[in-house]
Amino acid sequence: MQFTRLRLNGFKSFVDPTDLVIQPGLTGVVGPNGCGKSNLLEALRWVMGENRPTAMRGAGMEDVIFAGTASRGARSFAEVALVLDNADRLAPAGFNDQDQIEVIRRITRDAGSAYRVNMKDARARDVQMLFADASTGAHSPALVRQGQIAELISARPKARRRILEEAAGISGLYARRHDAELR
Ligand code: ATP
Ligand code: MG
Repeated sequence: MQFTRLRLNGFKSFVDPTDLVIQPGLTGVVGPNGCGKSNLLEALRWVMGENRPTAMRGAGMEDVIFAGTASRGARSFAEVALVLDNADRLAPAGFNDQDQIEVIRRITRDAGSAYRVNMKDARARDVQMLFADASTGAHSPALVRQGQIAELISARPKARRRILEEAAGISGLYARRHDAELR
């Protein structure tokens, strides 16, 4: 599975609809301080099911909605869409019937988040499952926040083990076992 497109609308500083085409290979995002580089990575994490406002550098999840500036009013919702190329059919069962998978998360003030996968309503859990084995997802060690390296060095052994398990690709297994135990 490969990310091919990231679309943002009203997410943090990306108030106007923004459509990023992600091509194979290395992508660099450059720009001055405060231009929104970290916001882009946060959008990626958020659409994959991140539920901790602190991971979005906010106090509450609605803080991801464009808050307004002196010249523009605040928005009432934020939406991020992530398109995955699934031509090699590596997506987990239940998502694997199409060449392309589009995940959309939208948050509306006072109404919380809603997810859609290929235009069908989905739960946060479904979206997290979609990414659980792909060495990606909201908590993926492949996404390194600013300051995270310093945190890793000072982490307690248990927290460090979780990171290693993610990196080894076995956390999807745990997530599914946990899911099975709840059923
Ligand atoms: P640096 O190079 O310093 O790491 P950066 O390019 O990573 O900068 P970001 O941290 O992504 O920049 O962007 C910060 C900007 O996003 C700030 O100007 C902040 O005001 C703006 N921002 C964050 N949340 C919102 C929001 N909800 N509404 C409007 N603007 C927001
Ligand atoms: Mg940054």
